[in-house]
Amino acid sequence: MAEPTSVDLLIEAGSIITMDPTRRIIRDGAIAVKGDRIVAVDKRNALRDKYKAKRTIDGRSHVVTPGLVNSHIHFYHQMHRGMSPDTFDGNQWSNFVHTKVAPILTAEDEVWAAYIVLLEILKTGTTTYLAAGSYNPDPVLEAIPKVGLRGFEGRRTFDYVHLGHQALAEPTEKCIEENARIMEKYKAGFANNLVRPCVNIVGLGRVTDTLILKSKELADKYGAILNMHQCAFPEEVASIKERTGHTPIEHLDHLGVLGPNVVLVHMVHVTDKEIEILARTGTHVIHNPGTALKIVYGMTKWGKFPEMMKSGVNVGVGTDAGDCANFMDIVRVLYLAATLYKDIRFDPQLMGAEVALEMATIHGARAMGMEKEIGSLEPGKKADIVLFNADTPQWQPLYCEPYNLVYSASGDTADTVIIDGKIVMENREVKTINEREVIEKIKHLAKGVEKRSGVKPPTRWPII
Ligand SMILES: [Zn+2]
Repeated sequence: MAEPTSVDLLIEAGSIITMDPTRRIIRDGAIAVKGDRIVAVDKRNALRDKYKAKRTIDGRSHVVTPGLVNSHIHFYHQMHRGMSPDTFDGNQWSNFVHTKVAPILTAEDEVWAAYIVLLEILKTGTTTYLAAGSYNPDPVLEAIPKVGLRGFEGRRTFDYVHLGHQALAEPTEKCIEENARIMEKYKAGFANNLVRPCVNIVGLGRVTDTLILKSKELADKYGAILNMHQCAFPEEVASIKERTGHTPIEHLDHLGVLGPNVVLVHMVHVTDKEIEILARTGTHVIHNPGTALKIVYGMTKWGKFPEMMKSGVNVGVGTDAGDCANFMDIVRVLYLAATLYKDIRFDPQLMGAEVALEMATIHGARAMGMEKEIGSLEPGKKADIVLFNADTPQWQPLYCEPYNLVYSASGDTADTVIIDGKIVMENREVKTINEREVIEKIKHLAKGVEKRSGVKPPTRWPII
């Protein structure tokens, strides 16, 4: 018999949801990892004699999945989670947040908000994120690699004011220059390219055509993602139509800025013609059902996500900001993505657990431009791996792995997480950053945010 090949890590698994091209679920499986890459995924018996591992993780009572991709998060909004009344629609929410809270947040607030977001998403199974832009991009980009998640972040930029608040809008030239500075300064990325800069503009009709064009140019120059919100609420679409004479996606198409490095977030109010444009240009869409439901985007009335996917548009999922949906657990989003359109269209054939899981794995990977690197458990791909503890009430009985994960479990059953071949969390203990210290710091900073903003808890009930 041939000598066993030496590897760094062997993960023994109860079940592996591989998300490979045939979507195999391997029971009694194992994954061999060398450095930052997966070298083999197979039945446990087949790998046991072939590989000699420096370390073996016993995941025989676990369901193992690729690291989940949360394609839309915000860091700074986490510092005011729970401050905006749940009686606001999207526009009211945005005006409240950007006039009352965002302007008083400090760089320190934002850095620690980033840590607490990253802890929350890590502890619920996310390994890769796309963040929507920072007010303090230098300290934030320099801080976040420490947590060990794979991700993208850039500068939050907008230069055109309509529909209310003007807080933190900047001249077009400054937006362009600052985004260019960030891309140049951080183009090499951080930590084995784990964290990379991207070009973030707010979108939502809050950006001039010049800024959109220059941002796309910049993203193309650096091979980066151009990320923006779009088509979230009817007033935004009406305003863009009034200004340009076209619907938002038609307008972006006329500008020539759509394409496979463009990620559009929300996308609730789109026409069939716009769906064709998205499919033709290979532009990605991120579905954030949690936000749409809580701050009333009209998704259950107007959203066309199943139709987009049927037309070949790549759709990923995100949790969005801490004060929109108010949770960062991507597994809760999977439940919404799987179920909502069954009822909305009165058609049980729509969406479902497998489709939802694809959105948080391979579709998310494609939206990040990383479909060859992440999104499935296959030899040659990055070792981004989550072990969910199936020895828990939520996971029992276990007949159908994708159903338990999407319909029954919460992300809190994520037990051990490996990113880029490194164990970032083991048995729920985070290895890279001191979780206790982050929580204590957030408690302290929250007092300052409360005092400086003057915002009172929005509950209708008395707090004594
Ligand atoms: Zn957002």
